[in-house]
Amino acid sequence: MKNIKNYNLEELKHELVQMGEKPFRAEQIFRWIYVENVTSFDEMTNLSLDLREKLKINFTMSIFNILKKQVASDGTIKYLFDVLDGNAIETVLMKYHHGYSICVSSQIGCKMGCKFCASTGVAFARSLTSGEIVEQLLAVERDEKIKISNVVFMGIGEPLDNYDNVVNAIRIINNQKGINIGARHISVSTSGLVPNIYKLAEENIQCTLSISLHATTNEQRSKMMPVNNLYNIEELLKACKDYIERTNRRISFEYALAKENNDNLEDAKRLVKLLKGMNCHVNLIPINKIENGTFTKSTNENIMKFRDYLNDHGIVATIRRELGSDIDAACGQLRRKNLL
Ligand code: SAH
Repeated sequence: MKNIKNYNLEELKHELVQMGEKPFRAEQIFRWIYVENVTSFDEMTNLSLDLREKLKINFTMSIFNILKKQVASDGTIKYLFDVLDGNAIETVLMKYHHGYSICVSSQIGCKMGCKFCASTGVAFARSLTSGEIVEQLLAVERDEKIKISNVVFMGIGEPLDNYDNVVNAIRIINNQKGINIGARHISVSTSGLVPNIYKLAEENIQCTLSISLHATTNEQRSKMMPVNNLYNIEELLKACKDYIERTNRRISFEYALAKENNDNLEDAKRLVKLLKGMNCHVNLIPINKIENGTFTKSTNENIMKFRDYLNDHGIVATIRRELGSDIDAACGQLRRKNLL
């Protein structure tokens, strides 16, 4: 059976028409799923009993089970969800003064092999469907009885390695007749899959693109991120410039600071040179500790010096708040879990 949450509104209309129903039924169903956040077809009371039965025969609602829920001292919540096939993924809810932000996973495991990230330490299982991406948000909203206002694709997996499902999930999340989170409140982070950055620029989605840059020379970046051997810094930045030009959107560069690795003044100088003149923002992440990891966090002093150097030289830089690190919910600490 097909997960009904894999369809965006247009596709759902098409499905309903195929079943001999009127397209507006799709809008009603869409509302039940994404606005009312119901968990069964029986609750869709403005549909005939007959149609509800037909839906039950043809589709599932694929409601995730919560296997574990951990609350950090700063209020960040990490969920372990049973994705109903023996696999489990993590999703993180963060509370900010401007609202709730959810960090969703896009794959079960990750193929990218970044040396500092825990998501890559366990074998890759598969990509998530768009319905499974969206269900993370719905499940958290149901559990906490809240409305989420920001979505970041920064959980487990490489979003641009699951391109179609991620783009479709964004369309579903963005739809005004459903969850209705504006594209500007949706961020997609990539380790740098260059061809799909060009592709994303063509989609006409106003989401924010974040690039995991983390280093300023190819030698250094290749040591941290094997993807750099495929698409180097020059190719990556060229794609970023194209993205900014086409979408008129500012790009965010993520830079995880590790002691005696990429955090000295020479690095900051090179970073300024690389990004000079680009419509961008740098998000400095004090690198988080992972099991068996070789990188350690820069000192606070170095982190602030690094930020100040960038800001003094025309590159807007902020330090990302470390949320949820006491429950391994911070950047780079999420892992897929196997239930079997
Ligand atoms: N695969 C995508 C999505 C992951 S987003 C990507 O690479 O962009 C998670 C962000 O946290 C990325 O910028 C990633 O590089 C960063 N990150 C990974 N491990 C980290 C760690 N140990 N400490 C701090 N940031 C880390």
